Amino acid sequence: MEIKAVFLDRDGTIIEDVNYLSKLEDIKLLPHAKDGLKALKECGYKLIVVSNQSGVGRGYFTKEFVEKTHKVLNSMLDNMIDAFYFCPHTPNDNCSCRKPKTGMIDEAIKHFNINKKRSYVVGDKESDIELGKNANITPLLVTSGYGSITKQNTKAKKVFDNLYEVAKWICQEDSTE
Ligand SMILES: [Mg+2]
Ligand SMILES: [Zn+2]
Repeated sequence: MEIKAVFLDRDGTIIEDVNYLSKLEDIKLLPHAKDGLKALKECGYKLIVVSNQSGVGRGYFTKEFVEKTHKVLNSMLDNMIDAFYFCPHTPNDNCSCRKPKTGMIDEAIKHFNINKKRSYVVGDKESDIELGKNANITPLLVTSGYGSITKQNTKAKKVFDNLYEVAKWICQEDSTE
């Protein structure tokens, strides 16, 4: 069975980027995020969050807090997210999981047996787009979060206003294959 996936950035793509989210009450879904995820799910994509959370390494919050955040977020999203991966390290740790390095995607691909050619990476920063490039997965930019700045100079294949616009395009592409 061939599995296709959308790898999603969290902050600035699904929820508001509040710069080191450290309180559960700060989790706020972006406009059209839930509709977009629902549409992607309906056309058969696994939804996998890949998020840099260096606030852990910097001592702002714990890994357990990030895991709790993901539980709460997924319940806000009717548990549509199939998996959450996050990098807890700081840039100085030189790990292999901090985006734009591909560690998180590599792990997900092993676990779910994902077909890269039919998959996408979606995010609001150029590090998300570079992640897609590094993993050989088509990168798409959303202009929420930092995306309005990122779009001025991006290697993204396409640029969209929100996750619902992303979903419409992906599902359309998929149906013409
Ligand atoms: Mg982001
Ligand atoms: Zn890492």
